[in-house]
Amino acid sequence: MASYAYETHEYDVVVVGAGGSGLRATLGMAEQGLKTACVTKVFPTRSHTVAAQGGIAASLSNMGPDNWQWHMYDTVKGSDWLGDTDAMEYLAREAPKAVYELEHYGVPFSRTEEGKIYQRPFGGHTTEFGEGPPVQRTCAAADRTGHAILHTLYGQSLKHNAEFYIEYFALDLIITDGRCTGVVAWKLDDGTIHVFNAKMVVLATGGYGRAYFSATSAHTCTGDGGGMVARAGLPLQDMEFVQFHPTGIYGSGCLITEGARGEGGYLTNSNGERFMERYAPTYKDLASRDVVSRCITIEIREGRGVGENKDHMHLNLSHIPPETLHERLPGISESARIFAGVDVTKEPIPILPTVHYNMGGIPTNYWGEVLNPQPGNPDNTFPGLMAVGEAGCASVHGANRLGSNSLIDLVVFGRAAALRAGEIVNPKERNAPVNKPAVDAILDRFDSFRNADGNISTADLRLEMQKTMQADAAVFRTDKTLAEGVEKMKAVAAKMKNLKVTDRSLIWNSDLMETLELANLMPNALATIVAAEARKESRGAHAHEDYPDRDDANWRKHSLSWVEGNQVHLDYRPVHLDPLTTEDQGGIDLKKIAPKARVY
Ligand SMILES: Cc1cc2nc3c(=O)[nH]c(=O)nc-3n(C[C@H](O)[C@H](O)[C@H](O)COP(=O)(O)OP(=O)(O)OC[C@H]3O[C@@H](n4cnc5c(N)ncnc54)[C@H](O)[C@@H]3O)c2cc1C
Repeated sequence: MASYAYETHEYDVVVVGAGGSGLRATLGMAEQGLKTACVTKVFPTRSHTVAAQGGIAASLSNMGPDNWQWHMYDTVKGSDWLGDTDAMEYLAREAPKAVYELEHYGVPFSRTEEGKIYQRPFGGHTTEFGEGPPVQRTCAAADRTGHAILHTLYGQSLKHNAEFYIEYFALDLIITDGRCTGVVAWKLDDGTIHVFNAKMVVLATGGYGRAYFSATSAHTCTGDGGGMVARAGLPLQDMEFVQFHPTGIYGSGCLITEGARGEGGYLTNSNGERFMERYAPTYKDLASRDVVSRCITIEIREGRGVGENKDHMHLNLSHIPPETLHERLPGISESARIFAGVDVTKEPIPILPTVHYNMGGIPTNYWGEVLNPQPGNPDNTFPGLMAVGEAGCASVHGANRLGSNSLIDLVVFGRAAALRAGEIVNPKERNAPVNKPAVDAILDRFDSFRNADGNISTADLRLEMQKTMQADAAVFRTDKTLAEGVEKMKAVAAKMKNLKVTDRSLIWNSDLMETLELANLMPNALATIVAAEARKESRGAHAHEDYPDRDDANWRKHSLSWVEGNQVHLDYRPVHLDPLTTEDQGGIDLKKIAPKARVY
């Protein structure tokens, strides 16, 4: 058995992750008078949220008529009727308040002539319940919105006396008698081990884009929260839904924001044709992401791709006045120059659909409380544990997320989790003593990775996983590719026990850290392909060629995946159909959000 000394820290709440959701939760918990620690593997302002470009959705109506019911309708339709109605209502309703709160915290939003927050059009955001023209709903700080939000929230968290543990890698949750009682972390720069004993743990660890070969997400997006939850015997939800962003730069995968199309950019094929007009006559290039990514893929398959290998498309911005590009899209002009060698004022940008966002994650209710569904009680919660941000699945994005709906999800649900913790966590109560056997078991696992002495390197196994996911759980899926993918991924996951870690040090050991990250990516990837193979319909981002239609009668339900080793056990949970408020209480007319064909 491994023997590691550790230091113990006592808190009411420990937040794991310092992206937009983790910081908003941390700030809120501290405001509630709870003694709060935020543990993060990277410096807070290097979290992936910093890379968010386009903006944050809220029906402020600064640029024309808008209301939360229209935003809710668009979110429901965007989700392809898989989102939970109560959570989607909460998101759309609370969004304006959350954006004004960010404004007061100091986020430097772009402005209109009259000094109001500037808002731009984004895919899938419309007026009149999808009957009217596109709406300008996405609030932006040029094309660096995430950067502005993250820096502001970090400053505010410090002001509220939250305590930060920076460059601490959370290893696993401490589970005591069916409740989460803390987390164990490894401090990367000096190798010490830290136990955070707490009444509530909030997972805000972000997505798992790096399960794929080509992704817009940072290398740190390794689904660590999902890995911890799977090891705790809890399920992951709706993992088959992975969003491909239509416009990753060809080759590098670096993102060109949808805001580029919001500002008037459009896609063309090798004939110079604006092909989106054929597929989505009303909203064209501003149809939702899953739709645009599929259209690009079809154009390429039918031989109308651009370039030597006819394997990508063009995004045109050169008709947009240079002043507008400079003011509204300065960052992407730079990215296009660096990553594609293109001057956007003169030439189109070569683009390709690239993995961008995970709709699935740790199932929660709209207060961020983690669900542990039981027979007859699908909404049963797991005490002491919350999840927010891309790591969580509330579920507001269902089968497909609308652009600019993630940043708003981070702040709305980060705040909701804090409000809920304010009700259920009692700061006067003493923490239960540390569960030492549980801590020892976590450190044993850590030690076995540290001394792993097999025959395959972490980098090689990771590449095998990424290539498999990229090939077999892609934009379009078939029974054949998915069945093959499941077998391949099970074989890949089985090789985890043959890993070889060469560096035994505890200090700045990136080999060990990447191995722990791979051990977290693996259950996320497995759940994704197994749940995809099982879902015999097409919905949102899950485009199944053998079952091209959505099948509400059989499949309007959330998948739940319990992962153990290289095995996945699947079950399902009903979608929440009831809103928070009825129409006569000022809520939405349920007839408006009843399922129908999804046409843009
Ligand atoms: C390039 C890009 C552009 C985007 N643009 C937009 C946009 O314009 N609008 C929009 O709405 N959405 C956008 N998105 C999506 C959105 O930005 C993300 O979904 C969101 O920022 C995720 O935030 P988060 O708080 O969940 O996690 P992240 O910002 O990813 O942060 C995760 C945090 O968890 C910590 N962490 C993880 N594992 C551990 C561990 N084991 N131990 C300790 N700490 C850990 C990390 O240190 C980090 O602080 C974009 C995404 C990308 C990739």
